[in-house]
Amino acid sequence: MNQPLFTSKSLRTMQNRTLFTVLFIFSLFVTTVIQAQSPVNPISSNSTTEQLNFEACGEISIHILDQSLTSTNSIDIANWEDAFSLEDIEPNFFDLDNKRFYIQLESSSNLGSFINVLLETLDENGNVVDQQTDVKLKKISGGFSTKKYRSTARIVVVDNDVIDDNFSDYTGSDQDIDVYDGDDDIGTNDDNKNDPTIYGILGQRIRVTYFSNGRNEPVTSELIDICEPSNIKRVRLNLINMRNNAGTGTYLQASDILAEIDKMQKAWGQCCIRFVNKDGNHFTEADVVSTTQPAALSLDNGLHMLNQVPNLSTIALSQQEQTHLQLKDNDPSTVDMFFVNKYVLIDNESDTTPTDTNVAATAFIDWLAPSSHNPNITAAQVRTIIITTNARYFTYAHEIGHILTDRAHFVAPTELGGDLDYNGSAEGHSDFPVRANLMRYPPTSAMNGVKESKRLLPFQCFYARNETDLPY
Ligand SMILES: [Zn+2]
Repeated sequence: MNQPLFTSKSLRTMQNRTLFTVLFIFSLFVTTVIQAQSPVNPISSNSTTEQLNFEACGEISIHILDQSLTSTNSIDIANWEDAFSLEDIEPNFFDLDNKRFYIQLESSSNLGSFINVLLETLDENGNVVDQQTDVKLKKISGGFSTKKYRSTARIVVVDNDVIDDNFSDYTGSDQDIDVYDGDDDIGTNDDNKNDPTIYGILGQRIRVTYFSNGRNEPVTSELIDICEPSNIKRVRLNLINMRNNAGTGTYLQASDILAEIDKMQKAWGQCCIRFVNKDGNHFTEADVVSTTQPAALSLDNGLHMLNQVPNLSTIALSQQEQTHLQLKDNDPSTVDMFFVNKYVLIDNESDTTPTDTNVAATAFIDWLAPSSHNPNITAAQVRTIIITTNARYFTYAHEIGHILTDRAHFVAPTELGGDLDYNGSAEGHSDFPVRANLMRYPPTSAMNGVKESKRLLPFQCFYARNETDLPY
């Protein structure tokens, strides 16, 4: 269900604001004078008249407050870092998230004990992609001062439908955490009035509107960004879709690759990171370049991977991998993503009977390149991802996570010890369930769900934004 921005009404509201402000200042002045003259009983007959005018012309403004109750022009996507208790979801997980927000309406006149506002997410064209009607705001201050009305805590989540965004009450107790119907339909009817989550992705905006006369007359609205625009890190991708041996087609369709890139966008929106094409723009199918194989490859049979202990300091590339990586664009400001059929294991280069594997993908991270770290891999070969047709739901997002964080996997404290593996204990997240982390040791989850491998903790976002010199 789409509906356009009510631009003409918004404009009229803006024009009225100037008038409101003048009346508001005048009313305040009158109120102050009356209070000064009649400290015992400020409600004189004159003041009643003024108060009535004041009621009729009162200034109303809406603010989005961040977790510290400070007014903000942008809100980030939630990390759910304190949402889990062992494997369960805390009933008040949205109250615990550092990226929670509150809606506050300030009015010079009394609007009662509670008011309702409309909360929406708008896409880049102004179409509504999620909507909560009648979000309740409770009066938290009154008297002669400005009346303030505030909502309970809310968070922005990146999946709609039944995933993340289908809490019908404050407890979240009805969330069906394990079921996903596979349909990311843009539904606006999954949100109960008190749903603490609203769907939204990077590039979209959150709008709150207060109406008079039921929902007929928008009085004022506030529109804020999801992620502060100047804080969005844009990572450029070079997408290389390998053709089959006969050169007649590719193993993956460009449209399927772009659908997976969309999942990457959702996952890394948690860190205000966005993926763009080589020119810095939105992806189209033209950005998925199909490329003929070098003669030394035979991708129909699988790309060779050396059978070796996966030690990052000694791991070596097969001759086929080395040949393959010569197709990189030699631009260190891009990450190259190759799409191939599958990986097969060889014991050594003269092995003529490769073994099929179910390896989903590999990523060659910056850390490998200095010879002091690994003498077998060069700077020209890193910042590379090879994706196979075994990729699962979160594989693309997981692999780019290796490149961005320049690290291996998020593991339980008891499992720490692998090369470049890490956990959340030093960051105060030792109890975060590994299962729910995007960078957990593979395999990542086969399906989407609230507790599946999709979360990124704030310190992982910090790594991803700062550990490489990939340009903004
Ligand atoms: Zn991995």
